[in-house]
Amino acid sequence: MLDAQNLSKKYGRLTVLRDVSLHIGKGEFVAIAGPSGAGKSTLLHLLGALDVPDSGRVQLMNQDLFRLSRKKQAAFRNQNMGFVFQFHHLLPEFTAIENVCMPLWIAGQGKKEAQAAAGAILETVGLGHRLNHKPGELSGGEQQRVAIARAIVHRPAVIFADEPTGNLDTANAQAVHQLFLELRAAYNQTFVIVTHNEQLAAMADRTLLMRDGQIESDQRNGDVLTAP
Ligand code: ADP
Ligand code: ADP
Repeated sequence: MLDAQNLSKKYGRLTVLRDVSLHIGKGEFVAIAGPSGAGKSTLLHLLGALDVPDSGRVQLMNQDLFRLSRKKQAAFRNQNMGFVFQFHHLLPEFTAIENVCMPLWIAGQGKKEAQAAAGAILETVGLGHRLNHKPGELSGGEQQRVAIARAIVHRPAVIFADEPTGNLDTANAQAVHQLFLELRAAYNQTFVIVTHNEQLAAMADRTLLMRDGQIESDQRNGDVLTAP
């Protein structure tokens, strides 16, 4: 479903990715691990077309991401991908439900319909009682769950997360991990997650270990929970 071929990327003279290729199947839960500076974030950004490679290509659902015009690429991204970062990037002036409505409004969905969908997904992430709170009135764990709700409300085929629990305490991190598993089981979405968290990496079907801009190993984890 997601295919990367021969991706390379330099920043100035620093080579950050060297000829990386990989294939990710629908519904796979993939962790990207490895030391700081290995190129994990860069790879994730290229897979999500948030950044442009020097060479190579990325196809999502047979669409060649870097052959699309900027406008079409943005529309394709909004429709098919969701992003979760270490810091939630919620809009502080908007309530939880308004933040979650945002991708639907951008996609042109009507206000009522969007609110119903956003309310339902906030319920799913355990925040049905926080719909009208602004980010500043929520705990760090709650804020991150709103960000996850926003990333998934439009049911994207693939969710990219970069250290999604890097800023959370253990209890909140575990709650987010559990949520990812439930979402995957419910919707068979594909997850690609950069993480230093061993517990999160252990939940994945597959772990890509990166070092010095390359995939050093690509291991399937045997006995993890799988979608029904
Ligand atoms: P990781 O996520 O594994 O920590 P990154 O992909 O963030 O690694 O970064 C890999 C290397 O590329 C690091 O040395 C980082 O400093 C460098 N780098 C990342 N983004 C940029 C950028 N926009 N400009 C210059 N150097 C960058
Ligand atoms: P992470 O914690 O995920 O590895 P970083 O903190 O390394 O991310 O980088 C955060 C952002 O800053 C990334 O989007 C990356 O592109 C950019 N960045 C990282 N290193 C550099 C750098 N040396 N110069 C410029 N931008 C950088």
